[in-house]
Amino acid sequence: MMGTVPDSAPNPANFSCPAPSAGHEEIQLAHGGGGRLTQQLLERIFGPAFGNPALDARHDGAVLAAPAGARLAFTTDSHVVSPLFFPGGDIGRLAVYGTANDLAMCGARPRWLSAGFILEEGLPVAMLERVVAAMAEAARAAGVEIVTGDTKVVERGKGDGLYVNTAGVGWVEHDRVIAPASVRPGDAVLLSGDIGRHGMAIMAQREGLAFESPIESDCAPLWPAVEALLAAGVEVHCLRDLTRGGLATAVIEIAETARLAVKLDEAAVPVGEPVRGACELLGLDPFYVANEGRFIAFVPAAQADAALAILARTAPGGPPSQIGEVRPTPAGEVTLRSVVGVERILDRLSGEQLPRIC
Ligand code: MG
Repeated sequence: MMGTVPDSAPNPANFSCPAPSAGHEEIQLAHGGGGRLTQQLLERIFGPAFGNPALDARHDGAVLAAPAGARLAFTTDSHVVSPLFFPGGDIGRLAVYGTANDLAMCGARPRWLSAGFILEEGLPVAMLERVVAAMAEAARAAGVEIVTGDTKVVERGKGDGLYVNTAGVGWVEHDRVIAPASVRPGDAVLLSGDIGRHGMAIMAQREGLAFESPIESDCAPLWPAVEALLAAGVEVHCLRDLTRGGLATAVIEIAETARLAVKLDEAAVPVGEPVRGACELLGLDPFYVANEGRFIAFVPAAQADAALAILARTAPGGPPSQIGEVRPTPAGEVTLRSVVGVERILDRLSGEQLPRIC
């Protein structure tokens, strides 16, 4: 027996080139252990998909160069959507666009993302590969690089397949302060496109609802539209993407923070027929349903038409519309004029309307 090599001994040849993945492989606890299987995930899945100089350096963190004097925007978001794949998107795209879009809403050019994966033991490796491929594609579309990451594995039954946390850093390349505090009485409130698709795409899939035209998530990168507004010199006061809580919650949060009133016009808010139908069926209000590729912009009224023309060319899901205006008082109050002309105050939702949609 002396001198023989046991079958289980590591074979250096295994590490020299990425092996093709077998479709039946499952995530094991050891994939999160920091040992050989963790290394294989990096070499076979994450490295080839996300490859960039910072990630390829294989260091404890990414060392990055920002433009001299640039302000940085920094945000993070965890993604627990169920199911992992849905019409128009998947958890991977959501994780990249969600964080990149939050940077864009700060007026920052999205640049770098981290990706932290929490995997459940037994997850098919092929499913992880699909999610990672979607993240790589979304990162290219959003103009970001995934420069650092982490993988942990939890025991079977203690996760839900896969969770992803992304954090992101972007550069602010202008002097504007794009935030609720910059909103002014008289500002126009612009909406980039139709609302309610993402939440209803997930709900339709979960409830097994079939519609003549299936509802697809609107998940999409928003920086190109923001960049175009800024490049054209639009004095953007505030931006907000309409994720959890939808349009109504976003406007309420901004009105409360700015201590100003907002009047919205229901007839000006586009809701597609399939979304409207699904909302009626499930007893949901599209104003509170999540979107992943729509945003509102607060701009001076005099620039509203110019901004709408830019959004029509650059924002996904258009046409855009002016949906309301800012008034000085009552502070924090958002009112909605219905299609029949009745005004009511919009409130935050008291409970969770749609769990696990992002
Ligand atoms: Mg946001």
